[in-house]
Amino acid sequence: MISLYCPVCLKGGSYENLLIHLYHHGYDDIQANILLNYDKTYKGLIDHFDLKLPEVDQRDERFIFYSKFLCEMYDFFRPLPSEHANLRVEKDIIELVKVYREVLGCKIFKIKEKLKGSGYVTDIDKYEFIVLSEIYKEVVDYQEQLSQPPSGSVLYPRAIKRGSEYLVSWDHIEFKEKKVTVSVHEVDRKSIIDVSSSQELLNYIKEDYFKVRFKGEYFRLNFTDNRKRDLSESTVSDIEDLLRANSKDISKMLKNIRFKGKPLHGTGEIKPTVVDRGDSRFIKNKHEYIQLAVSYCRGNDKVYSIKEHYNGREEGAIIIEYKRSNHTYLLVENENKDRSAHLFAFDKKSMNNVEQVCAYYTSDKENKRGLIKGRLIDFKKDFNTSFDVKTLYHSDIEKYKDYLLEYLNIIG
Ligand SMILES: [Zn+2]
Repeated sequence: MISLYCPVCLKGGSYENLLIHLYHHGYDDIQANILLNYDKTYKGLIDHFDLKLPEVDQRDERFIFYSKFLCEMYDFFRPLPSEHANLRVEKDIIELVKVYREVLGCKIFKIKEKLKGSGYVTDIDKYEFIVLSEIYKEVVDYQEQLSQPPSGSVLYPRAIKRGSEYLVSWDHIEFKEKKVTVSVHEVDRKSIIDVSSSQELLNYIKEDYFKVRFKGEYFRLNFTDNRKRDLSESTVSDIEDLLRANSKDISKMLKNIRFKGKPLHGTGEIKPTVVDRGDSRFIKNKHEYIQLAVSYCRGNDKVYSIKEHYNGREEGAIIIEYKRSNHTYLLVENENKDRSAHLFAFDKKSMNNVEQVCAYYTSDKENKRGLIKGRLIDFKKDFNTSFDVKTLYHSDIEKYKDYLLEYLNIIG
């Protein structure tokens, strides 16, 4: 049975017109077909019945093949925030996944009725019933996942996985007394390695020294199958040699760390410049992360230009103010792509956020980024932010986009 309504926006029409209509939403032919081929009279029924799965030989090649085929076709039912952003739908991602879930529920219920009836039932019907039920569970899980705020407050860059090894960069390394810890956050693995010349202070020169002097340096970290680390194949212990070989430079850098500067709160004298965000000249020479972040502005959102005081130098930076339903977000982006971005969230009613954040970045306080990174400033207390400040890395634009949209569109 073909639905004569667009399941996304409920616009009615003939099948042919709806195919074109769904194409304008951003769906391809096959996806549009999936979205129109269901019987809406079965809506909501699936949740009230226990789905007894029919018995089939799941090792049968035909089952495996068909299962793979269906999973690929229905893959778009669990869109990444970046994929959702490419669709032209007026629904947020959670609402959209709910629509998919309902469509899928109707399809499953229809096959259930067929299997129960007295008519002819093929193996394909049974296969479809089993696989769609599996996909349904995944969609439900995904819907729940999306509704939960992301855990942890720092958004880490991912390590690069190659077989059983991970390539980690300075972002994954934390210096401790006489050891370093290496964290691969996405798989929740941490490795502690003895490095006799390590000390905690080294964390403060990570941005300015290690990431500059040893830019693009990756270390290998190997785990065997049972999650134990395999040091013979890892190169993380090379950090020891690196620290020794550069001990002179490093101690010079450490001497320069002084925690001085203007008080955290601005005196009100610093006024950021508002930029016309439609001005193409302003955005043209900025890196792609800034361009993307500015493109998410709407309504009264504003872009401010500031000069970030970066350890004795002035660097061009921008603050983007996004006003959303629950929070006002301030994204601080430096024009230097090597510097990560920071996202501050304030209650939507709070005032003077831009001035406050601007005063922090333009003050001559040293090692401001190190302070954020080392969590040595309690922004929740000092600035009254809703969350701890988030760090967004410039290592993967898709991830960056997903993280940003997660806050702007989902948490809102
Ligand atoms: Zn529509």
